[in-house]
Amino acid sequence: MRHFALLVLLFCSCSHGTENLYERSFYSMGSTVELKFYSPNEELFHRVVNACVERTKEIDRLFSNYRDDSVLAEVNRNAGVRPVPVPGEFLSLVRTSIRYSELTEGAFDITIGSPFELWRAETKAGRLPARSRISDALGCTGFRKIKIDEVKSQVFLDGDCVRLDFGAIGKGYAVDEMVKIARESGITRGLVNFGGNIYAMNPPAGKKSWDVGVRKPGSGSEIISRLDLANKGVATSGDYERYFEHGGKRYSHIIDPRTGWPAEDMTSVVAVSKNATEADVFSTAVSVLGPRGAKMFARKDKSLGFLVVGKNGKRRSCFGSYTCP
Ligand code: AMP
Ligand code: MG
Repeated sequence: MRHFALLVLLFCSCSHGTENLYERSFYSMGSTVELKFYSPNEELFHRVVNACVERTKEIDRLFSNYRDDSVLAEVNRNAGVRPVPVPGEFLSLVRTSIRYSELTEGAFDITIGSPFELWRAETKAGRLPARSRISDALGCTGFRKIKIDEVKSQVFLDGDCVRLDFGAIGKGYAVDEMVKIARESGITRGLVNFGGNIYAMNPPAGKKSWDVGVRKPGSGSEIISRLDLANKGVATSGDYERYFEHGGKRYSHIIDPRTGWPAEDMTSVVAVSKNATEADVFSTAVSVLGPRGAKMFARKDKSLGFLVVGKNGKRRSCFGSYTCP
């Protein structure tokens, strides 16, 4: 079983005036989506849930790594061959991802596909990748290899081995899209949790915030920090959630784009930001860059906050808007 590092702790299930709390979970993209919305009636809630289910299916058809018929698969298949016409939404998330690569000194980079796939395949086969193959795969990365034609709405990957991977941004993005659907339907209080990528909307009436607990990395239940959230996104990245394993050693599933090796040192990063997409991106980027990255990002953008937990779960440092427990 996968342990998510974020837990929604307290929420009032009572009704508030004309609103009641409704909850629903569904499965998408290999994780559970948890919806908690205050709605004036059940019909509206169901309509919003159905729209969220449909929206995640659309997002999956665009960005999935696990299906041959996604737009992403088509773009990757045509790497180094030809530009691929893509829907505006696909182009837009590629553009957003490139902007985040620029903001994070390339620590977040959706062209990580080749080395990521190499590490996944080799460790699955019980080996570590050969150094020569790591350096070859590294030659297939770099966000500047993504060529966008805005007018024709096309994406071209400049190199036949370049592979895009939206694994570090897709769920956060999907959370923000579901929040948008809820708000457009008139729902303002609620919380969306997609496999540990969370957006907390307005809190329940009479409360200042949603209470989200950060679980100690690797542990079953110990809460090491609590976050009071309202209209903010939060995400975690950590090698205890998903990892490659070889010779009894765990390797992070986050690849350092500077070396082609899994990110070292960090056990867990919690990122708080103004939306779930950013929280997702920055938790991954800080997993690569470590506390130096957390300090730098938090200084540039006051809405960002980080909790960085060292390998044995003991060393904890906080940055920016994150107040240490
Ligand atoms: P997250 O759990 O949000 O940190 O995302 C990790 C996932 O993003 C991995 O499983 C890969 O699919 C992908 N990924 C790995 N390293 C990077 C990176 N440096 N930049 C962007 N995506 C990455
Ligand atoms: Mg991420």
